[in-house]
Amino acid sequence: MNRAMQKGILAATLLGAASHMIVFACCSSFGIGSAAREPFILYSLTLADARLSVVHVCGTIVGSAARMASLRAFAGVDGTRLEPIGFTAAGPDGEKLDARIADGAWVVENGGRDFTFEYDVALTIENRYSPDVRGMMTFLGDDRCRILGKDVLLIPEIPVASGIMVDVSMRPQWRLSASSPHVRNRVVVPDLAELPFTMTVSGEYRIFGRSIGGSEIVLAIAGSWSFSDEEFFDVVCRIVSEEISLFGSCPRARYLIVCDGNPVMGGSRFDYYGIHYGGSMILLLDRRLDRSELMDTPMAIIAHEFFHNWNGEALGAAGRGFLWFTEGVTNYISYHVLREANVITHNQWESRRCAISERYHANPYAKRVTIGEAGNNDMGDKDMINLLYDGGFLAAEALDARLRGDTGGRVTLIDVLKRMYENARGSRTADEDSFLAAASQLGADDLAGYVRALVHTLEPKPLAPRASSLE
Ligand SMILES: [Zn+2]
Repeated sequence: MNRAMQKGILAATLLGAASHMIVFACCSSFGIGSAAREPFILYSLTLADARLSVVHVCGTIVGSAARMASLRAFAGVDGTRLEPIGFTAAGPDGEKLDARIADGAWVVENGGRDFTFEYDVALTIENRYSPDVRGMMTFLGDDRCRILGKDVLLIPEIPVASGIMVDVSMRPQWRLSASSPHVRNRVVVPDLAELPFTMTVSGEYRIFGRSIGGSEIVLAIAGSWSFSDEEFFDVVCRIVSEEISLFGSCPRARYLIVCDGNPVMGGSRFDYYGIHYGGSMILLLDRRLDRSELMDTPMAIIAHEFFHNWNGEALGAAGRGFLWFTEGVTNYISYHVLREANVITHNQWESRRCAISERYHANPYAKRVTIGEAGNNDMGDKDMINLLYDGGFLAAEALDARLRGDTGGRVTLIDVLKRMYENARGSRTADEDSFLAAASQLGADDLAGYVRALVHTLEPKPLAPRASSLE
């Protein structure tokens, strides 16, 4: 955001003061009495300025006995946080409360009483390779919007009762859907931990839902495409059910998958992008996508993002140095899933893996940066991203082939991942040691030396051209 825009937003905030007061009056009239044991929280999101994509957020905390309460923005993987504009807080009679920033959090001196807080948030999407857009799922358009909790909500650092309510009223006639259960425009988020990952969509989204393996899969799709919504949802469901069957169950009861146009056009080539946060997934596809590509490798984006439910979320990388595994294995398995779900043929798989191998060997960083180090570098650099994803894919493929070879086909990479998932319950993190331990528990050979040669050595011999594991 540039300075002129910040100024514009500030002006819009001041001009919008009258409408804010109406919102505030609505917020402050809310109360459930003092019977609640744990503080109770309600958010209300309204449109402050459509032209500048500014959302007004009002929060009400009822039943907190603490003398002060702090509210903090959720930090994304790259450390970016939402920046509230014009933060104010008020007591039950509308009197202004002292609010200050301390240690990166907003601290409100509520004196043990109920209070409301409000602020504006400006939402923008910039270049697809900028760090901002990598974490930005929120979009505010004339006919529809999607909002991810972490992009707009300051989160209280006090225990609050389960069932956090978020009212989303962007335009009066817009119908809403969400990654959490909802009634009309009110979303009920199970707990604070879930709040940053809760996504709502409203306006011109067409909604489809199906129950797969005990989980509710909801698709929200917008705009016109060369394929029908039903055809696309069918591909989504085939991929999702294939992945759930790999693990036997799914980590979450409900998923909202949003399919929308990619705002950034990548030349003549089909350009797409996916992001996954908890039960919220967004697929930004190129509007020029041909119908035939529904049965081709671009659908790996669905398989990739959904597979992160296990490898990425249930099994989070212990550090950036393990991203080669999180992204590489997910990348590799996503094409495997497409093949198993008959979305792509064996030939499509083969040509894709050849393209990945060629791009890896042509990567200017391939001779200077190991696959294991790629994730520790600048993820705003396209070549470095490719090194991580392509190198990670090839490493995963080599590990899968090695595991199968060592065990006569008895143990696969998926088996090791499943064992890591079982072992990790509670800790939710994964690293090279947990991978090696899971492989050895399944009876595979010690792979420590092989992993070192594969991902921690420059120009790894197991990935030399024409000596690839499958050739
Ligand atoms: Zn990924």
